[in-house]
Amino acid sequence: MTSHNGIPEKLSRLGIKSTLDLILHLPIRYEDETHLFPIAEILQGQTVQVEGVITHNEVIIRPRRQLVCKVEDDSGMIVMRFLNFYASQIKSYAVGKRVRLMGEVRGGFWGMEMVHPKCRMVQQGETLAETLTPIYPTTAGLNQKTLSKLIAQALLDAQQAQILLETLPEFITKKHGLAGLWDSISILHHPPPDVSLETLQSRTHPAWRRIKFDELLAHQLSMRWHYRQRHSNNAPMLPAKNQLIPQFLEQLPFSLTASQNKVIAEINQDLSRHYPMHRLLQGDVGSGKTVVAAMATLQAIENGYQAAIMAPTEILAEQHFDKLSTWFTSLGIRVVLLSGRQTKKEKQIVLDEIGQGTAQLAIGTHALFQEHVIFHQLGLAIIDEQHRFGVQQRLALRLKGKDSNILPHQLMMTATPIPRTLSMSYFADLDVSVIDELPPNRSAIVTKLIADNRRNEVIERIRNVCKQDRQVYWVCPLIEESEALQLQTAQQTYTELGKLLPELKIGLVHGRLPTQEKTTIMHAFKKGDIQLLVATTVIEVGVDVPNASLMVIENAERMGLSQLHQLRGRVGRGSELSTCILMYQQPLSEIARQRLKIIFEHNDGFEIARQDLHLRGPGEYLGARQSGMPMLRFADLEQDSDLLTTAHATADEMLDQYPEFTEKHIERWLGEKIAFLRV
Ligand code: ADP
Ligand code: MG
Repeated sequence: MTSHNGIPEKLSRLGIKSTLDLILHLPIRYEDETHLFPIAEILQGQTVQVEGVITHNEVIIRPRRQLVCKVEDDSGMIVMRFLNFYASQIKSYAVGKRVRLMGEVRGGFWGMEMVHPKCRMVQQGETLAETLTPIYPTTAGLNQKTLSKLIAQALLDAQQAQILLETLPEFITKKHGLAGLWDSISILHHPPPDVSLETLQSRTHPAWRRIKFDELLAHQLSMRWHYRQRHSNNAPMLPAKNQLIPQFLEQLPFSLTASQNKVIAEINQDLSRHYPMHRLLQGDVGSGKTVVAAMATLQAIENGYQAAIMAPTEILAEQHFDKLSTWFTSLGIRVVLLSGRQTKKEKQIVLDEIGQGTAQLAIGTHALFQEHVIFHQLGLAIIDEQHRFGVQQRLALRLKGKDSNILPHQLMMTATPIPRTLSMSYFADLDVSVIDELPPNRSAIVTKLIADNRRNEVIERIRNVCKQDRQVYWVCPLIEESEALQLQTAQQTYTELGKLLPELKIGLVHGRLPTQEKTTIMHAFKKGDIQLLVATTVIEVGVDVPNASLMVIENAERMGLSQLHQLRGRVGRGSELSTCILMYQQPLSEIARQRLKIIFEHNDGFEIARQDLHLRGPGEYLGARQSGMPMLRFADLEQDSDLLTTAHATADEMLDQYPEFTEKHIERWLGEKIAFLRV
């Protein structure tokens, strides 16, 4: 690449750093300069090319200064008009000059006209373009012409240096009817005049499909490669011994759903293997993932190994600790909690127990995977609400076994459902289990949208609900810009509600409270000593108080879909009909309006996730998890889901049978980015 004019810098702004990048910089649209239209035949609205001789040239002043020329061919006359022009243009568009114009035809004051057409001097009989003209996405200071030239040169270079050799075995291209790579690239840059422009624009042309397939395949190959890599690691084999689990089930006050049993069987299998499990358990809020986690830990414990459960917040960690201690103490299992509120001395006792192995199950927040926490023999690590943790944090926990050659099994749980296309692409390195039913006797949650100015009605409703011995959550607005402001708002709301509802016992919980106080308040709410809990979004994940049947969310329009869904999942946990009131402030932005509509219309987390993905695209949807993951440039998971399915199957086939092709393909498409892929 030439180094003058700052071109490399401008190219890098477009993400172009190599010849290959240039080649893969594909047009956004095309212009057809392969035909000349007789002027008499052109229609308004068409974008066409015409040729003629300039018969008139004039700068007029009114209604504003502009250059107006008339261009005639044998059939008719068209006006070209420039509102901004150089003095040199007045001269060069002189009467008698022959020009080719390309532009959109409009009906103007003087008849048919083109405003600011592309205008080129030509000789009579000059040849026409043989292919459609590509228009590339570009950046300030880099014009179309320069960019087109650079790309055309890159294509020539590539052809000579043969850097675009096929990386797909013929067997695969034939089997799936895929176009050749070089042909596809050439067509996309310089389509022949008879090509279907529509399929090029909609990116459904076979040439597009080939590029998208290659991209999806590269992605799949690297994910599946990592998936297989994991199988070469060692993990303790923890087969079910049927010692603790039958006892546990006997004392459980409910029986498991078919879905829970299904995922437990899948986990059970994984744990008995000699390589580490890496399983993502998805289940909507309230689907009962905790009991599944409990059963997995029992299987590790009955094999003499330790288990750890990591939760994203102290509240949740303590809740897990309470629940699992109750369930496990009668089984003679020692459960410990590593918490932020413990004194140094208390912590040390817990750490010793974890190190000596007397603690069979350790529960905590990210405190669990800090340097000084050494497990005696960790067999299973469970990460609750995994989407809340970064990649590194999960990794660190996994590596906490004493013997670094033996890795613990890993179970990740999430209530943020992952649509099928995403789990097939970005999560293809994991095994996925889904709990797809809720425990019986759950009544649906009724969602209501209420504008802020009807606050009084909402207050009345709270009063009534509490009269019937039910409890209420009031979620304060999320103020992303300022935590201090958020806190202030929560405190004001608490005071205000106290005045409006003097007969109620009201509590306030927010992220800044010391853990001890948080726990005390949550306990009081759980016991019913607090009737109305005013909270910031700290209660978003996992909190379980079945007697709460009303939730009010203030400024719901500021929250994301998955957050709203999670919050709403805090009610509807008992057998009473529950209500979630989404209060919003007008005017609503278009996106906020759409979000509220979706959450209002749907209760199913998977459907909400699908629509959320549609609204935001995979990059934003996945958030932190994928930082460093290459996002798709060409393929669209929704539009190209058939290609994704094919690429998914092809990846395993290539890894098994065509290792040389595999390597070349990954190298071409992911290059240095592969280093970022997580293990
Ligand atoms: P989540 O999947 O959101 O973590 P939890 O594990 O907190 O859900 O479960 C929600 C509630 O449902 C808890 O009170 C739990 O005890 C209860 N639960 C779980 N499984 C069942 C079941 N099979 N039948 C009845 N209740 C269940
Ligand atoms: Mg949970």
